[in-house]
Amino acid sequence: MKETSLIYHISNLLYAFLILYMIFNATDTDNSRILWAYVYPIGTIFLFGNRLGFLYSCVLLGMIIGLFGIVPEIHTTYSIPFQVRFSVTYMTVAFISSWVEYHRSRYQQESMKSHKALFLEQMNLKEEIGQRIELEKELQYLAQTDTLTGLHNRRYFLEVAEQEFTRAVRYNGSICFAVLDVDQFKNINDTLGHPIGDAVLKALAKHCLKSLRDTDIMARIGGEEFAFLLLHVNEEQARAKMETLNKELSSLEIPYDEGKILNFTVSIGLAMYTPEIKRLDELYIKADAKLYEAKDAGRNCVR
Ligand code: GH3
Ligand code: MG
Ligand code: MG
Repeated sequence: MKETSLIYHISNLLYAFLILYMIFNATDTDNSRILWAYVYPIGTIFLFGNRLGFLYSCVLLGMIIGLFGIVPEIHTTYSIPFQVRFSVTYMTVAFISSWVEYHRSRYQQESMKSHKALFLEQMNLKEEIGQRIELEKELQYLAQTDTLTGLHNRRYFLEVAEQEFTRAVRYNGSICFAVLDVDQFKNINDTLGHPIGDAVLKALAKHCLKSLRDTDIMARIGGEEFAFLLLHVNEEQARAKMETLNKELSSLEIPYDEGKILNFTVSIGLAMYTPEIKRLDELYIKADAKLYEAKDAGRNCVR
């Protein structure tokens, strides 16, 4: 039994004895003390609930009736009709308290149930929102990423490039658009198979990402074609960067079969933003034309 519950039981017992004492000790001049007994059923039923409270109330009434019978002098204070009226009204109070308590506890149970259901629903909703946020992030990642290399895809690259281009136009910024294409890639696929071709693309992407600045943007925009947006560089710096990349990539070693090594080369075309260029497309077309120049010049070079 909890401490508070024990205190309730003890006070209940004391109050019951007090009432019995007051009835027992009633005098001719003061027979109103018995009216305090009406408080008992109300208090016990609210304190101990319907069943126990009602039982306690009946026990007290039984004891009061017992007192009426045992103590003969009491009849001078409480006449028989008074005793009957008292018992009936006491029981009426007990029944009304019990009825009120029954509805109160039912209402409480129902509201607790609906609170619990609401709480569960809130938890479910929170979980669902969390899942949706995760899903949205995943979808966004998938929508922006090339699955083979993990680089940005063409769509996302063009979106970001458009923003950077607009910024460059407004603030007369310096940006370089470069296009890189693997040389004779079809040969690699045809002679060594697609998985080795894929390995070349992955190694190329990994190396470029390592070599670029954080502010530079790179993406796979086609099968074996990659695009770069180098920010805050002049033509000389951009060209030097791409020349270096071209050299580094040509010395990359791709292992295949057992102990065999594959090398590959790339061609790169680059175009700098100038105020005459009004749209990103123009810059892209210019870089692409330079790439064709590089291919025509014998591949494995930067134009
Ligand atoms: P060039 O030097 O003129 O660029 O010749 P190339 O052989 O590289 O050019 P081409 O356009 O003829 O061939 C590109 C090949 O890239 C053809 C296609 O099968 C291959 N390819 C495209 N996407 C992928 C891919 O995801 N994985 C692999 N392994 N191959 C791909
Ligand atoms: Mg190509
Ligand atoms: Mg190619």
